[in-house]
Amino acid sequence: MEDRIARWETVIGLETHVELATERKLFCSCSAAFGAPANQNCCPLCLGEPGVRPVLNEKAVELAVRGALALGCRVETVSVFDRKHYSSPDLPRGYQITQFYRPLARDGAVRITPENGQEHTVHIAQVHLEDDAGRLFHDWEHGDTRVDFNRSGVPLIEIVTRPDFRNGDEVVAYLEELKTILQYLGVSDCKLQEGSLRCDVNLSVRPEGSTELGTRTEMKNLGSFRAVRRAIEYESRRQIALLERGERVVQETRRWDEDRNESISMRSKEDARDYHYFPEPDLPPLVLSEEYLLDLRARQPELPGEKRARYSREYGLPDYDARMLTGQRALAEFFERTVALGAQPKQAANWIMGQVLRQLSQRNIGAEHMSLSPEALVKILALVEEGRINRNTAVQVFDAVFDGGDPEQYVKANRLEQVSDTGLVERAVERVIRENPGPVSDFRAGKEKSFGFLVGQTMRLLGGKADPKTINIILKNKLVVE
Ligand SMILES: [Zn+2]
Repeated sequence: MEDRIARWETVIGLETHVELATERKLFCSCSAAFGAPANQNCCPLCLGEPGVRPVLNEKAVELAVRGALALGCRVETVSVFDRKHYSSPDLPRGYQITQFYRPLARDGAVRITPENGQEHTVHIAQVHLEDDAGRLFHDWEHGDTRVDFNRSGVPLIEIVTRPDFRNGDEVVAYLEELKTILQYLGVSDCKLQEGSLRCDVNLSVRPEGSTELGTRTEMKNLGSFRAVRRAIEYESRRQIALLERGERVVQETRRWDEDRNESISMRSKEDARDYHYFPEPDLPPLVLSEEYLLDLRARQPELPGEKRARYSREYGLPDYDARMLTGQRALAEFFERTVALGAQPKQAANWIMGQVLRQLSQRNIGAEHMSLSPEALVKILALVEEGRINRNTAVQVFDAVFDGGDPEQYVKANRLEQVSDTGLVERAVERVIRENPGPVSDFRAGKEKSFGFLVGQTMRLLGGKADPKTINIILKNKLVVE
């Protein structure tokens, strides 16, 4: 089986649709918010009624341009909207407004590091603006399918790659990177569960070493990374099996059925001219000045890839840490502020990757919604550094002040300061030795494990507030000497 697969190469290109984070729709002033009751956010334009003219939302253009710049694209000073015709119940006017002949931007590149793979570049062919269609949903109460036009007219960018992927790991690494970049910029929330990021997978196979592309199929609207990965595995195997049987792959659109775990033929699409594209007569060409583009370029924030490189260079952090910290923009900013306040970078990184991410995942929130201040974390680190609390107490303090509060005051109010009186530690150790003759003789007979038990007992007597190193030294002395 392995041998057989190794003779074939899978070639994948991706078209990703990302909803832009605007308040309004692309061509009218209806709200673009997700989650409103069905058909609440629509006007005659959203519903495709004749005689209403589209007016372009400038905020959507700005977000699209910022996204395209971050993906390394050349943004065109002139782009043109076209009508793409097709018939569907969620598209009442019979065409989508998109950019086909002259897209907003071209020729970008994204660096990816796939799991079990080498870092490499994925080329972006183009980025263009378009509006979303409505959404069909099943009405369980009435037992029929209905249509919700709230999504109709929501601004999208479509990001089209070159056929640069060879497997699902590479595709998922690219989508993760894309998501991080667009979230950093505030271009999109990229919430897969709300359909803000969906992709179409174009896939073909060819004999290893061949430079010609095989016949491709397209799987549309994959809404989770898991679905993307499984759809690619399935479709790649299906096409290889066809070719090995001497049959041919039909160029067509296929639907991925997540429950049945297979792709199903929807319609054959021999030719793109089916869509009968032509320039949208109601919208002038989109003209962007050089000054406008320079200004947006100057206002771009530092992107995750740049941050990762800087974290290894300036702070000497391992690649893994740099990736974790830059995964969310708010988390990276929290880290940078903590370090700016004097925390040792690796120590701050460990606390953020361990304790901060633990708290965030327990609450199921992003770092942007966290109320812990960098000042509080720096104070906790200082308390440990000064030997005033031990590591376990520090975690307890951290949990207590995560939603607000002063670590110093919390330590004082709860009498958590470490017992630094060695006389007190000594008396506790003596009592533990007296009360635990079994473990003591075990230890003396060479059972190292009993030592940990005795340290634990001493710590318990001291209310968890002693420095474990001090207990270790005193306990060892007493056990060996007496
Ligand atoms: Zn509208």
